[in-house]
Amino acid sequence: MKIPVLTYHANNITGNEYQTNDLVALKQDLRLFDELDMTIISSHILVQWLKQEINLDKSKNYLVLTFDDGTELDFWDWQHPYQGFQKSAYTLMKEFQTATRRYIHATSFVIASPEVRATLEKTCLAGHKIWGDAWWQEAENSSIMSIENHSWDHVHETIEHVYQKDNIKGDFSVIDTQEEAKQQIVEASKYINSKIKNKSVSLFAYPYGDINDFLTENFLQNHENGIAGAFTCVPQHTYQDTHRWKIPRYVCGADWKNINELRTILQS
Ligand SMILES: [Zn+2]
Repeated sequence: MKIPVLTYHANNITGNEYQTNDLVALKQDLRLFDELDMTIISSHILVQWLKQEINLDKSKNYLVLTFDDGTELDFWDWQHPYQGFQKSAYTLMKEFQTATRRYIHATSFVIASPEVRATLEKTCLAGHKIWGDAWWQEAENSSIMSIENHSWDHVHETIEHVYQKDNIKGDFSVIDTQEEAKQQIVEASKYINSKIKNKSVSLFAYPYGDINDFLTENFLQNHENGIAGAFTCVPQHTYQDTHRWKIPRYVCGADWKNINELRTILQS
């Protein structure tokens, strides 16, 4: 049995076509999941399966949905200044649930640092204030979304000082000491937990999908750091013996660009 994990970036909006708007793509993809009779499970269930804590029904075709970077478009609709009204990923999921009566769930991997998100609003989103964290609690309460960890600062290229000893940006594989990983992962989890009642972050998505042996074989394997599973961007399916801290994912726009390419992935 093998399970694909899909990733979307809800703020990828340069038009209103499948190729230019991840939310338009998601809306069409949801119909495909229904047509192909896919069974959506949460990323937490996937990790429990990898830990051999649960069994899954071999006769079903499972699928996991994730969103990266955690702008408010994951949860709240938004009037885009140029591209018009955008239904959020959450709204699209609710509509799918109402229309099909199918279970749906997605994990939003969010950037923790509020200062970094405020800067990213300026450097990546033309100053639009849609990278807040006021939606996290509501999303978690919705029971169809979970908030998990996408690092402290994403070692993002546009941040002046990132939490990396040589201020190297745009590559998460350079996070290779206890101190850096503590800030990027453990402190990020702490911040997210502080914003959501009774939350205990347990999943991580590597910025840019970048990994190294220190993170996957050492740091994350220490259960005190609280991470039970971590997601890369290697375009492959997940098997039950997949490394729990190297879970592969397909990325919308990079690994599939239209519904037929996604169909090929899902049926492979
Ligand atoms: Zn990211």
